[in-house]
Amino acid sequence: MLQLEFESPLKEKAWESYQRLLRDQYERELTPRRDPMRELISTMLSHRTTHANEEAAYNRMWERFGSWEGIRDAPVDELTEALKPATFPEVKAPNIKAALSRIIAERGSATIDFLAELPAAEGMRWLMSLPGVGLKTASLVLLFCFAKPVLPVDTHVHRVSQRLGLIGAKVDPTAAHALLLPLLPPEPHILYNFHVTLLRHGQRVCVWGTPRCGACVLRDLCDWYQAHS
Ligand code: SF4
Repeated sequence: MLQLEFESPLKEKAWESYQRLLRDQYERELTPRRDPMRELISTMLSHRTTHANEEAAYNRMWERFGSWEGIRDAPVDELTEALKPATFPEVKAPNIKAALSRIIAERGSATIDFLAELPAAEGMRWLMSLPGVGLKTASLVLLFCFAKPVLPVDTHVHRVSQRLGLIGAKVDPTAAHALLLPLLPPEPHILYNFHVTLLRHGQRVCVWGTPRCGACVLRDLCDWYQAHS
């Protein structure tokens, strides 16, 4: 059993919120759900795109070009057309081609498995040096595929954290990564479950627009609820 001594009320709030969401949902195993290359490219496709459309774009791309090398060498207008189920295909196509070119040139083949051996900060720097890869994509690949102690902050994690008061109302998602991570123990399993439970809570209860506070297990911890009830 993890024993925690809280150095700050914010850390205690983060931990208590996490424990309640675990009880409200369930604890998940951190096991890689997809091959790292697939996770990377799918996450690049997922920006402002539903999961169904991300999958459709990914599958169309593979059906048309058949290999990572084929996608790298595809004419950009043809790749853009294949990626149309995703939003901003005209931006994602050249970024994916450039990222694949860099990975294959640097690593000798389309693999990012070497990231398993790098410290998290170094892995983050390398991934974020790829075209079209930002903080959220890099941290998601490192946590989900390689169990590194980083915390992806998507739109739901960001909104729930803001309403709870774990981060300020004006903190953007990029700054939120650095502010939320030190509130939690640096354990990949905990960071993964924190990410997923807040995400699900944001999708089902603490939704955009009017949150469903009546169904929320975090009411007494929540700044937004205290201010609006
Ligand atoms: S009390 Fe309301 S605003 Fe606060 S976390 Fe729960 S649903 Fe969101």
